[in-house]
Amino acid sequence: MKDTLQRFLFEEANVRGELVQLEESWRAVLERHDYPEPVRQMLGEALVAATLLAATMKFNGSITLQVRGDGPISLLVADCSPDFQPGEDQPAYQIRGMASWQGEVPKGDLASRFGTGHLVITIDPGKGGKRYQGVVALAGESLAEAIDDYLERSEQLPTRMWLAVAGEQAAGMLLQRLPGGDSEEEDWQRLSALAGTITGQELLALPGEQLLHRLFHEEDRRQFAPQQVSFSCHCSRERIAAALRGMGREEVKDMLAEKGKIEASCQFCNQHYHFDVVDVEQIFAAEISPQGSDRRH
Ligand SMILES: [Zn+2]
Repeated sequence: MKDTLQRFLFEEANVRGELVQLEESWRAVLERHDYPEPVRQMLGEALVAATLLAATMKFNGSITLQVRGDGPISLLVADCSPDFQPGEDQPAYQIRGMASWQGEVPKGDLASRFGTGHLVITIDPGKGGKRYQGVVALAGESLAEAIDDYLERSEQLPTRMWLAVAGEQAAGMLLQRLPGGDSEEEDWQRLSALAGTITGQELLALPGEQLLHRLFHEEDRRQFAPQQVSFSCHCSRERIAAALRGMGREEVKDMLAEKGKIEASCQFCNQHYHFDVVDVEQIFAAEISPQGSDRRH
């Protein structure tokens, strides 16, 4: 079963784990832009990582993982939003992502793809909550290593992440030592060593149940029902209008005078929006949100 997030728990050892396997949702991201292979690799890994990180959220917010650099890939964004339905204690997850790059992107370590970069993780609790943002210099050989390092420093929780991408499949696993309890260092070491025997091929291809059995069949563990992950973009005409409002009346009128209409596309889902003279008047006339003229090409 693909496009799921599966949580598991080693209660005795006080260690939690998660497994994410994406296919349809990842394909939906790939269909919208023609990314070169080394960019796809990073974007797939980032989407899986964002989903792994979102699993501890208990509210309908979002977690965004961003990498900014001065190298061939200048920006990578992956976000995951838990979607709790009334009465359900486990959410479904919505993901989206995009990347900007210039020229030839080499394969290789993080530095060769991103140059000097930063990893930015933003947790937005939604509806009036306070946004939290953490920024660290991008370091390590892989995105998984960079995120492990970030988590260990920011949450003080030993964490290990494994990520794999091949073609239209992307997958990952996370193991984290929980605070408190009377867990032993030895348990954490043993479980991470077992998890570390996973191969990228197994992560991508084995069904979740089988994979966890293969790694941890001698360990006392609890498995939770897999949660659905799907592609979804929450862009809207109102958000684009708000961005235009932020640019200021003069600049927007100049753009309009030049081209006759204003066109904008969502970088995540490629949805096109356009605004004509009347729409622009409305944007600046009052605090009412403009309606109509949505168009999908
Ligand atoms: Zn969109």
